[in-house]
Amino acid sequence: MRTMAILGASGSIGTQTLDVVRANPGKFKVTAMTVNSRASVLFELAREFQPAICGMVHEPDLIPEDLKHIEWIFGEDCNERVVEAAKAQDVLTAVVGAAGLPASLAALEYSERLLLANKEALVTGGELVMGLAARKGKPILPVDSEHSAIFQCLRAKDHNEPESIILTASGGPFRTWKAEDIENAGIEDVLRHPTWKMGPKITVDCADMVNKGLEVIEAKHLFGMPEDRIRVLVHPQSIVHSMVEFRDGCVLAQLGVPDMRAPIAYAMAFPERLPARAERLDLAKTAMLTFEEPDTTRFPALKLAREALKQGGSMPCIFNAANEIAVAAFLQGKIRFGAIVRIIDMTMEKCESGNIDSLEDVRDTDARARAIAAGIAE
Ligand code: NDP
Ligand code: MG
Repeated sequence: MRTMAILGASGSIGTQTLDVVRANPGKFKVTAMTVNSRASVLFELAREFQPAICGMVHEPDLIPEDLKHIEWIFGEDCNERVVEAAKAQDVLTAVVGAAGLPASLAALEYSERLLLANKEALVTGGELVMGLAARKGKPILPVDSEHSAIFQCLRAKDHNEPESIILTASGGPFRTWKAEDIENAGIEDVLRHPTWKMGPKITVDCADMVNKGLEVIEAKHLFGMPEDRIRVLVHPQSIVHSMVEFRDGCVLAQLGVPDMRAPIAYAMAFPERLPARAERLDLAKTAMLTFEEPDTTRFPALKLAREALKQGGSMPCIFNAANEIAVAAFLQGKIRFGAIVRIIDMTMEKCESGNIDSLEDVRDTDARARAIAAGIAE
């Protein structure tokens, strides 16, 4: 039985992680959970899973009598404090946004393995996370489906270094839309992802392909692959989760139905594989797998993310902070959909970048970039 802390337990990844726990009785014990503000959801989960420790960013008005035996931790730094107190074997980071960075660092400090869904941790502080993992000799198991696919393909590399990584992208709901329609897309259109059901922030990120940009940066850190050897291919069926190419021209791919419980379960049980509970892949039924180059004219976010990665230092952190501010402004109805990528572009131009040597550097850059992006969004 492995002990687990689940950070962001009430979200899309968090609840699917708990599905995997339920489906495999006796394999996992959830000893800690955190959420942002949805107390009633956490209370229900705490009753079901009986963790020893729970954390919330926003303290609720009261803790129900039957949950008072749990150790409660509140505040912005609740994830880090919960991870330190719980000392679970595995920490799964399913919080959304840059808050995942200190949480991931704490996981590498106090736990045996980091199960990483929160890609923003690597985008904002990739060098810090990978550096700490290497110093501590602790594994990072990717939960993001593309990175899980690459991780699985790389198990077959023997001593051959891969020549390139090919990340697949669904293309999102606007793959076939005209530029002017994308510019003015409504919130309901944006939130209608064709193949994956996810939290609102990442769903917006998928619609303008910012998500794929974040994933290129994530892949660079996880697999030590230079930017120009990470390709992106649009694959609308979301069956081929990603691929790795070797110098002899052989390409290995990982396939499966689009269900996040598969990469979550893979990370949780690694190196074991758990029995599949969901629908199995039936390629005869799928019939057709198609691939196309991404259109960076209609979806310029991918170019911007690559530029941020090439510049390096704190530029990816600036890219991420501007995006978080712009996505929030869009979801509040304050800006057009098309403005998100322009805000990222302008923030990258205006915000001074530098080196990232510490968490403080990330926090400083993140705050400056957020202020600039918020000013532009007004
Ligand atoms: P959701 O918005 O569905 O859920 C976010 C969760 O994190 C909620 O439980 C929320 O609590 C909690 N939360 C937010 N901020 C904090 C914080 N500072 N401290 C503690 N808890 C917090 O997001 P997703 O599950 O969709 O995404 C989570 C992460 O996984 C993101 O980084 C995303 O990019 C990544 N990811 C998601 C995929 C998906 O299929 N959803 C696929 C691949 C990666 P509350 O309910 O109180 O708001
Ligand atoms: Mg992904």
